[in-house]
Amino acid sequence: MAEVVYGSEIAASIKNDLKQQMDCLRNAGKRLPRLVVILIGANPASLSYVRGKEKACQMIGMENELIHLPEDTKEQELLALIETYNKNTDVDGILVQLPLPEHMDEHKILLAIDPGKDVDGFHPYNIGRMMMGEATFLPCTPMGIMEVLKRIGYDDLSGKQAVVIGRSNIVGKPIAQLLLKANATVTVTHSKTKDIEKITSQADVLIAAVGKPRLIRSDWVKAGAVVIDVGVNRDENNHLCGDVDFEAVKEKASFITPVPKGIGPMTIAMLLQNTWNAYQIHEREV
Ligand code: NAP
Repeated sequence: MAEVVYGSEIAASIKNDLKQQMDCLRNAGKRLPRLVVILIGANPASLSYVRGKEKACQMIGMENELIHLPEDTKEQELLALIETYNKNTDVDGILVQLPLPEHMDEHKILLAIDPGKDVDGFHPYNIGRMMMGEATFLPCTPMGIMEVLKRIGYDDLSGKQAVVIGRSNIVGKPIAQLLLKANATVTVTHSKTKDIEKITSQADVLIAAVGKPRLIRSDWVKAGAVVIDVGVNRDENNHLCGDVDFEAVKEKASFITPVPKGIGPMTIAMLLQNTWNAYQIHEREV
């Protein structure tokens, strides 16, 4: 029977540490870290994500600004706004909520953010540094997964097989890179992979980032594996669930993250951590 690893608890302890840092700065009358979140349009999921980020900032006492622009905002207007925040020395982190409306070029927008304020870790400069194993802003979800592995004593994966299901730019590809850096032997699988369960059942560490409710059954999982479920889905009864058949897989794994209360809260905690890291770099540069 697996130990259930609640990312929500780890995230709460990280936020608590950050809150203490914010309290110290405030008591000393110093400038506080500031995160700017830009949302274009009214996608309900995006609205809920940015509100979650806003709430987390408020909870720890970090300065935050939510810029909500209409769907028909011109790309040029957004680029100009990003440039203003790039230059503003009171701003430490800039996050443009994805997805963007179709008339905007996502690559161009992400490229416009100052890499030193790219707290989402999506700028090609930061992705390049991550690929080379250098210190940089890491994308928040993969960073959160690595933090969970660290907390359960799995930060050195020498001799371990890690399998990632999914190859998106925001989860699958970067987590594969971070696992490699932690010395795992990494296999990335996706929708075109044949006999996927044969590959996943070799994994000492299995990361599911697919977006399909309960796709990963117990026969896909090696006994004693560490199973990290990134998926956030609704099942046929409209209940929130992950990519992993939690009830069955928890009988076989050694550690498993649940959905909800698993990797989701870690993603937000890592955004706050990245903003705090950016602040510290900016303060050293002053
Ligand atoms: P995505 O961009 O849609 O990528 C999904 C990946 O899964 C693709 O690489 C796809 O393969 C692969 N895939 C689809 N069906 C498959 C199957 N039957 N077998 C094996 N692989 C399959 O999704 P994403 O952005 O990475 O997100 C994945 C899930 O994580 C979603 O549920 C999302 O909501 C959740 N998520 C959660 C957080 C969090 O903070 N908890 C953050 C980000 C994402 P192809 O490349 O071949 O199409």
